[in-house]
Amino acid sequence: MKTKFISIILAIFLFSCTNSSDKYLSTKKKSIANNNLIMATLYNYYASEYKALSYQAYNIGKQRLSIIKKNNPGKNNLAVVVDIDETILDNSPYEAKSIESGKNYPAYWNTWCNLSAAKPVPGSLEFLKYADSLGFNIFYVSNRKKNLEEATVKNLKNLRFPQLKDTHLLLREKKSGTNKEPNNKQPRREKITSQGYEIVLLAGDNLGDFYEDNFLGKNRYAEMKKHKNDFGKKFIVLPNAMYGKWIKSIGVTDNQSSIDSLITIMTKKIEGVNR
Ligand SMILES: [Mg+2]
Repeated sequence: MKTKFISIILAIFLFSCTNSSDKYLSTKKKSIANNNLIMATLYNYYASEYKALSYQAYNIGKQRLSIIKKNNPGKNNLAVVVDIDETILDNSPYEAKSIESGKNYPAYWNTWCNLSAAKPVPGSLEFLKYADSLGFNIFYVSNRKKNLEEATVKNLKNLRFPQLKDTHLLLREKKSGTNKEPNNKQPRREKITSQGYEIVLLAGDNLGDFYEDNFLGKNRYAEMKKHKNDFGKKFIVLPNAMYGKWIKSIGVTDNQSSIDSLITIMTKKIEGVNR
């Protein structure tokens, strides 16, 4: 009787193990919404290493400003250009919302921006206050759309970012005959230099924040390497694995990609990328 009882218990246990294992396997194979965002967002949201990297970037930026200032006495046209999202404003709470809701950009993006609640990327405020104190002209070049201008300025003003004049904020304009690639920041940088400014330092989290980045091209890596001596000198790069052109450049099409398709990308050799 006792043996029979133990056998029944064992059978139930084995059945439940098999059952949960099957569930686990099917979950693993299923497409999980925003799965490629989770670790990246946790990193920005919590990791002290992320914050340390940001401080490191801006500490280098401050050292560079000090040297540039010393090497250019009397010049008042020196300009610093910064991107906004993930360069000076931290939107990781928005990315966390995307994961929770299973929806992608642009869902909730305007709602989040209109809260004007983003916190500064560590070190960014001190960096720009320092640039301001040394007399650099600061330009904010962002691909946020014009309809978010008021909320963006409010967010930046609340945080006490300097030089928030209209002419120093260059957001993304609508697509038109003369503006065929609204995301391309190069025309906006040229607009700044055409006004007599000399751009001596740029900060961003996307290569397009520094130069014209052909992110779908096969030579993206080679193009970046051409500028390798500029990083930490003229270009200050902030870490952002949550989103950006790097994702499309390696063939991930959206945040809903299945784990299988991400593993396929991880294991194949991506053309033009030298690992
Ligand atoms: Mg950015």
